[in-house]
Amino acid sequence: MSDQPAFETRVIHDEYEAPGGFAALQVPIHHASTVLFKNVAAMRARNWMEKSSYTYGLHGTPTSFTLEARVAAIEGGTHCRLAPSGLAAIAMVNFALLKTGDDVLVPDNAYGPNRDMARWLQQDFNISAHFYDPMIGAGIADLIQPNTRLVWTEAPGSVSMEVPDIPAICAAVHAKSAPGQPIYVAIDNTWSGGIAFQSFEHGVDIVMTALTKYQSGGSDVLMGAVVTRDDTLLHKLEMAHMRMGLGVSMDDCYLVLRSLPSMKLRFDAHDASARQVAQWLKGRTEIAKVLHPAFEDCPGHAIWKRDFRGAGGLFSVLFDPRYSEAQTDRFVDALKLFKIGFSWGGAHSLCVPYRMEGMRKTWTEQGQLVRFNIGLEAPADLIADIEQAFAAL
Ligand SMILES: *Cc1c(COP(=O)(O)O)cnc(C)c1O
Repeated sequence: MSDQPAFETRVIHDEYEAPGGFAALQVPIHHASTVLFKNVAAMRARNWMEKSSYTYGLHGTPTSFTLEARVAAIEGGTHCRLAPSGLAAIAMVNFALLKTGDDVLVPDNAYGPNRDMARWLQQDFNISAHFYDPMIGAGIADLIQPNTRLVWTEAPGSVSMEVPDIPAICAAVHAKSAPGQPIYVAIDNTWSGGIAFQSFEHGVDIVMTALTKYQSGGSDVLMGAVVTRDDTLLHKLEMAHMRMGLGVSMDDCYLVLRSLPSMKLRFDAHDASARQVAQWLKGRTEIAKVLHPAFEDCPGHAIWKRDFRGAGGLFSVLFDPRYSEAQTDRFVDALKLFKIGFSWGGAHSLCVPYRMEGMRKTWTEQGQLVRFNIGLEAPADLIADIEQAFAAL
């Protein structure tokens, strides 16, 4: 053997150490599947659940640990685990807390794929799922069975925007909780971004949020998070996270970390523009109802005023029942600045028509529902766009 290792060896063993004394504001991207241990003893003593050390890329690197700490702080919790999408975060909660024979309650206006997962748990895993009226409040007590372990909430609900009484639901559920048989309340807090609603202050046990939306802000990242303040819950969530292999991309963590400092400014800008557009829509004869929590037409408006600090950019409208689906579809197609596409929280305004029948157990409203995501364009331009598209009705 020559005194120099071969090229292929040298190229692998090119020693790298992060430069000391190099201070930058952004968190570096630490990629890893393999994480090295100093010796066998350190490898044997590893504890992937503890953030005092690193064990394997799937459980996190300094980049994802930093993002987890920041998301926990935004939501007012102490622990956070990331997931590769908002929906994966919902799955983490379900599989952490539910087993065969248990019961889960889901609001009738929950995010569609959350509803669908509850049905899947019922059909294939022998977990019963019940869909409840989101405006039920303390009445949720009557739906709690001896085997109910998890109650989902969402504030406001997806698409139809009802604002539930979270404190009343939490108090009623926890009153039915027994030592050794806890019933947990989880919230899908995506709409508020953790800015407009601080869930833990209102009694919630687990926050799930889609970082895909405001936290990313770029319409180009999928990620979810689960936050709690409870060590027992954290343990259950970590086990589900590990067993399902819910790793996230460190490049994506970096993108979210880069967007977080501007999130409050963006959220407030979305909020102000959305209220301006919604106010204009309210004065139009084409529109029967504006389903925006800051407007009186929206079920739960008084609860929003009591519990929320802001609203963001997402709201829906009900068209006057004289317009058919074909007509409102033509309206959506005629929009120029508003693009047709799912998700929200990015700079671009979006618009999606929904068929409410079939999405809800009960839906009694008349008229076609169209959801707007107000982006960061000038509100006057968005209003002009909607006005010209009304002509297509
Ligand atoms: C977008 C969204 C999710 C899911 O997030 P993905 O990252 O797209 O999986 C969950 N809940 C709500 C309310 C959402 O709007």
